[in-house]
Amino acid sequence: MPSYSEPKVYISEPDLKVRVRELAAKINAEYGMQEITAICILKGSIVFFTDLLRNLKMPVVCEFLGMSSYGNHTTSTGEVKVTLDLNEPLIGKHVIVIEDIVDTGLTLSYIIDYLKMKKPSSIKTAALLFKPEALKAQGLKIDYIGFEIPNHFVVGYGLDYAEKMRALPYIGIIEQ
Ligand code: 5GP
Repeated sequence: MPSYSEPKVYISEPDLKVRVRELAAKINAEYGMQEITAICILKGSIVFFTDLLRNLKMPVVCEFLGMSSYGNHTTSTGEVKVTLDLNEPLIGKHVIVIEDIVDTGLTLSYIIDYLKMKKPSSIKTAALLFKPEALKAQGLKIDYIGFEIPNHFVVGYGLDYAEKMRALPYIGIIEQ
């Protein structure tokens, strides 16, 4: 395990709180009181997912989907596999996929294709962070974006560095 210092704050806790509320307000305005199925992509989305959910007003069914794309590396391997599957069928449901960060977009593209096979009525996507410079997935649409960020490796607020640092209340950058 390489040594690292305390991550530098990149997006502060108050800024995250404000932006998550804004995203929830948009979702509330678009869906009204229509039931949605919110799918939390494990593990990185856990904090964003729970914060977002607490600001949603409609009935929400929570589902969890385990995906692995990175292992302990800090660059994309392009390898995506389902490590934990959904509990309930999605037929006829209005789905919102809650993702922590879109980097190459390969993971989210794979997830969307995978979920489409389950015949939901609609699928939208929310990503707290989006790195436009790293995007490789053609035609990927992200409906709700928290922050566009440059091509830095970030940690905290659910995001890990070799499985550590998920509990940081802010988004940070490690200075090696
Ligand atoms: P993509 O398939 O878009 O390249 O990668 C998506 C996944 O890679 C994310 O869900 C996240 O798990 C991981 N990832 C991408 N960029 C970062 C980053 O800057 N920090 C961390 N901790 N994980 C990242």
